[in-house]
Amino acid sequence: MALGTLRAEWEDLLERRPAFRTTLTVYGDVLDHWARWSPARLAPLAWSAQECRQRWERSVPLLREAPSAIAVDDLEDLLGGLMERLAELREDVAAALQRLAEAWDRGALGPEALFPTPGRIGSGAVEATSGLAPELVAFLAYGSLRPPLEVYFASARAHLSEHVWNLGVCPFCGGPPGFSDVLEDGRRRLACHLCGGGWPYSRMKCPFCGTEQSQDLVRLEPEDQDKGYVVIACRRCHTYVKELDRRVRWNGQSALIEDWGSPHFDLVAQRAGYRRPVPAPITLATGGQSASGMW
Ligand SMILES: [Zn+2]
Ligand SMILES: [Zn+2]
Repeated sequence: MALGTLRAEWEDLLERRPAFRTTLTVYGDVLDHWARWSPARLAPLAWSAQECRQRWERSVPLLREAPSAIAVDDLEDLLGGLMERLAELREDVAAALQRLAEAWDRGALGPEALFPTPGRIGSGAVEATSGLAPELVAFLAYGSLRPPLEVYFASARAHLSEHVWNLGVCPFCGGPPGFSDVLEDGRRRLACHLCGGGWPYSRMKCPFCGTEQSQDLVRLEPEDQDKGYVVIACRRCHTYVKELDRRVRWNGQSALIEDWGSPHFDLVAQRAGYRRPVPAPITLATGGQSASGMW
């Protein structure tokens, strides 16, 4: 996926939902940063299909065993730009961002500190060093890792075959699903916003806790219905993911754009008491704590 097209998709979506243009400005800025980025010396992971499969069969996402995936200078501009933007939005975290910048400059923190680990975004080291809240660390991870990880996994994507991976985390980077798509053939595909990966997953199962009890899974639909969109929430683990049925809305945008552009569904889910592991678009807009950065 060319990152430049995401910016155009975002414009299209805002034309459809102009009411969000002001509150979601920061996401347009993030996409601008991505479109301007170019890799310093990053090369795609060169593992063969068999080398990938060996990890997947052990339920290990590739990033966890991949050799030093992203170099400091491949992430620095993206992260620096995002931190500046965050400082403008949230004066209350300026000191914490300063501590993060200092730790980064002296090499105490690097890109791996933002990589997903089981159950959370990042290793926890950024929070410990800077004092930033987990949802803001997650925002920094989501706002900066995508371009380099897209390049890094460009060759590995083709190696994912139908039945080799049935977990609710991304087989490439280990991140949680950020959005769910029902494809033309009726199957479900979960999308990872951290690396841009996608993988098939059962529609009868909660991606977060794996429950298959149908009474645990609820569909929430906002009052002013947007055809094809629904929130899938789980009563057992109290987590939700937004879903778009592409058979109903065939002209939808990429999963990331559809997710960022539908904060009204996050409100519905969160008012009903559900949370999501990936920062919701309303988190920054409201300065609220709607995502924990952990799941
Ligand atoms: Zn991923
Ligand atoms: Zn669940």
